[in-house]
Amino acid sequence: MKDYILKALAFNNEARVYVANTTETVAEIVRRHEALPAAAAALGRSTTAGAIMGAMLKGDQRLTLRIEGNGPIGKIVVDANAKGEVGGYCDHPHVHFHNTQTGKVDVRAVVGTQGTIRVVKDIGLRELFTSESAMVSGEIGEDIAYYFTVSEQVPSVVAVGVYINPENQIESAGGFIIQLLPDASEQTIVAIEAALAQMPATVELLHEGKTPEEILTLLAGADAQILETLPIGFHCQCSFERFARGMIALGEDEIRNMIADGGAQAQCHFCNEVYEFDVPQLEILLADAKRKK
Ligand SMILES: [Zn+2]
Repeated sequence: MKDYILKALAFNNEARVYVANTTETVAEIVRRHEALPAAAAALGRSTTAGAIMGAMLKGDQRLTLRIEGNGPIGKIVVDANAKGEVGGYCDHPHVHFHNTQTGKVDVRAVVGTQGTIRVVKDIGLRELFTSESAMVSGEIGEDIAYYFTVSEQVPSVVAVGVYINPENQIESAGGFIIQLLPDASEQTIVAIEAALAQMPATVELLHEGKTPEEILTLLAGADAQILETLPIGFHCQCSFERFARGMIALGEDEIRNMIADGGAQAQCHFCNEVYEFDVPQLEILLADAKRKK
């Protein structure tokens, strides 16, 4: 089953519901970074939340979700857009903890419980929009829900999860976000709370083979109205040209140093791709940097 996000209207048309299967996308990102289980779960939950947040945008709009807690994983960064293209990385993928009581991976221990959630949106205007909130739990889902509620004033429920088997492979990943529309009634809020109380973990349902459509029905009932189905997948924005522009921006002295070193390498954080710049290429960039002055 390919990854996709369902966008729906439900709960008496007073809430938006997004349900995502992100299994392949998360597996690809975790594989590229060789993340250990707890780091993989943290990165996967963040990727799922970021992918859904990207699906809330339109056209060429894009966003970066940055989760910077005080845990050993460092910062987690997810890039996503309205077309369903998602990339992500974390500073330290080789960290792992598990809860000795439950035997499950301990996401909070790697992410930390204090820090910030920052969202930078590029909606096609000159300025980027940045908003942030404090981290409240370190479990990712609750942190993103808090971000929506306090920074965007949209009361939200965020449930994201990753199922990792004993061989440390990603078997399923996904989740849902419910957002109340501005004039939602008290009845709707009560109905959502009741729905959440009986809802098994989405990742368990995906693992049992349930589709996002079936999960939507379990969550919001049969009258939930699907508005759109957005295919999603791993995609990196990086290119040789993009790194070349970055090199030019570093300035003439930096480029001269690279030439003196006999060449330079740049590695993309998101996909781990390495770009090599040899001396003749750097000479061209140096000329461009001089012209830009
Ligand atoms: Zn890349």
